[in-house]
Amino acid sequence: MSTDFLSERINNMATSATLAMAAKARELKAEGRDIIGLSLGEPDFNIPDFIKEAAKEAIDQNYSSYSPVDGYADLKQAIANKFKRDNNLDYGLDQIVVSTGAKQSLANVAMAMINEGDEVVLPAPYWVSYSDIVKLAGGVPVEVPTSIDTDFKMTAQQLEDAITPKTKMLWFSSPCNPSGSVYSKEELESLAAVLRNHPGIFVVSDEIYEHINFTGGHVSIAAIEGMYDRTITVNGVSKAFAMTGWRIGFIGAPAWIAKATNKFQGQVTSGANSIAQRATIAALEAPKEKIQYMIDEFHKRRDLVLGLLGEIEGFNLNIPEGAFYVFPDISSFFGKTIDGMQINNASDFSLFLLEKANVATVTGEAFGNPNCIRISYAASEAELKEAIARIKKALS
Ligand code: PMP
Ligand code: GLU
Repeated sequence: MSTDFLSERINNMATSATLAMAAKARELKAEGRDIIGLSLGEPDFNIPDFIKEAAKEAIDQNYSSYSPVDGYADLKQAIANKFKRDNNLDYGLDQIVVSTGAKQSLANVAMAMINEGDEVVLPAPYWVSYSDIVKLAGGVPVEVPTSIDTDFKMTAQQLEDAITPKTKMLWFSSPCNPSGSVYSKEELESLAAVLRNHPGIFVVSDEIYEHINFTGGHVSIAAIEGMYDRTITVNGVSKAFAMTGWRIGFIGAPAWIAKATNKFQGQVTSGANSIAQRATIAALEAPKEKIQYMIDEFHKRRDLVLGLLGEIEGFNLNIPEGAFYVFPDISSFFGKTIDGMQINNASDFSLFLLEKANVATVTGEAFGNPNCIRISYAASEAELKEAIARIKKALS
């Protein structure tokens, strides 16, 4: 028996590079290697106590049956209130679907909307799973390369040039994983102006890092003229509330799209975890001040990491305005041999850091940018300082 017996679908799918690197780092640690893991985008904070309390109450109140497939009505109401409060978006309860993480929300949308051969524009760098989720649904990812010179953001002209008669969707995240870039209102308006001339194109706006934004201003593209009826706004609680393992994400979308994703979800998962849904109500109803300490801490760490990496020759950095990643362009190392290891691309560089500095990062190739690596700074200040000191030493 061999993998020949597996589906072409799975054989053609890449393993999630973020999760693979995290697994590798865990494995090396278990073998006794002193690895600092900066590969996974996962807050290192504990879940705030008020959210834990809500989950404990839900257990005691016997929230143990299947929930409605699209989520509890009062959770959807809390999500609708959140969209209104934070994003100036009016979504009715029939426009909201709660899922097992934003990752599942994205997969639901892909399965509900993409036909074989439909093109999906992905400004690169894009989040690692977009291209494989799109391909799983039969879609064709159309990567639009950006570089550090434009702060890794796609321009209106680039979007226009990428559109063909087969273009079905545009998927992007802001704040962006992996670049940390945040699209301003003006930039989103210029993309919207292009899309208004192409009425058949839908937008997936992944706003999971909404609150981890150091510019202070998050704008949802769905709130821009002409976009509401064709945008799926994706969000969740993994990042801002440090709830990655609780697996709750959600969408706000036109009702007919929400209904279709709900139909799909009803056949594959029956909906999200009941206890985590109850806890999410507490998370979303809390004033933002309750999570501000984590955002302030990420901001501090970003400045620390930018300062320290900036001292290493060959690291070319943008200033990420959100999320918790830096995405340095390290192409100046290509073609060099350092400490016996030949570095020809970003994967080699990431491997070099793992082997010689005991620091786990993720190659930019996984995000559609072969010149960069992603470093997550969702780690303690001490770990970050030690990791960067090791990187510096390994390179010198
Ligand atoms: N979108 C982006 C941009 C992400 O970084 C992540 C990270 N996990 C997700 C979606 C999925 O989040 P979740 O944990 O809610 O599935
Ligand atoms: N989104 C995080 C990351 O990019 C978590 C891992 C994952 O979901 O792939 O690292």
